[in-house]
Amino acid sequence: MDMRNPIFDARNIRDMLTRGYYSLSLWHCLMPSNNLSKHKVNQKNMKKQDCTFCKIVSGEIPASVIFEDEVCMAFMDVFPVNEGHCLLIPKDHFENMLDVNPEVASHLAVRLRELTKRVHGVYAPTGIINAIANGSEAGQEIPHLHIHVIPRKAGDEFGFRFPEGYRDEMASREQLEETGKKLSNVNVRD
Ligand SMILES: [Zn+2]
Repeated sequence: MDMRNPIFDARNIRDMLTRGYYSLSLWHCLMPSNNLSKHKVNQKNMKKQDCTFCKIVSGEIPASVIFEDEVCMAFMDVFPVNEGHCLLIPKDHFENMLDVNPEVASHLAVRLRELTKRVHGVYAPTGIINAIANGSEAGQEIPHLHIHVIPRKAGDEFGFRFPEGYRDEMASREQLEETGKKLSNVNVRD
């Protein structure tokens, strides 16, 4: 069994960041959830037989759990970039941000805030990354939605790398308007 965790391996971060895309702290887009009873069992509740994170949820694979509730679980990453690096996952098997339902996503947002504050409370790092990889080209290795909370420190050699020439030229207003309109108009209703 491949026990590798979907850690941002510093050796691969370059490719991951230049070829993929991340959802970085996009939680402000999500409405807070105040009615988790609406959370319905659906096909996404099906455990994936070979999913490492589903096995952690079921207890088949051990994990150092920070907290859990009926919807989510937070535990330590087995390949920490820095001490305190942990993960937050939904207990149900959603692949990533593209298929998670809004209620679970909202709940994760609230608990992500808490987890981030916990990391801050223990390590008081100078920075903390919240990161999600959606899809293999973004660096997602385990296809079960997970959010990294990574405390940063100077010299840890982890981080985003931008392609050469990045910021040499600012995008034109016309380009940005056109792209913004596409994103405004696309239908994303569940
Ligand atoms: Zn799973």
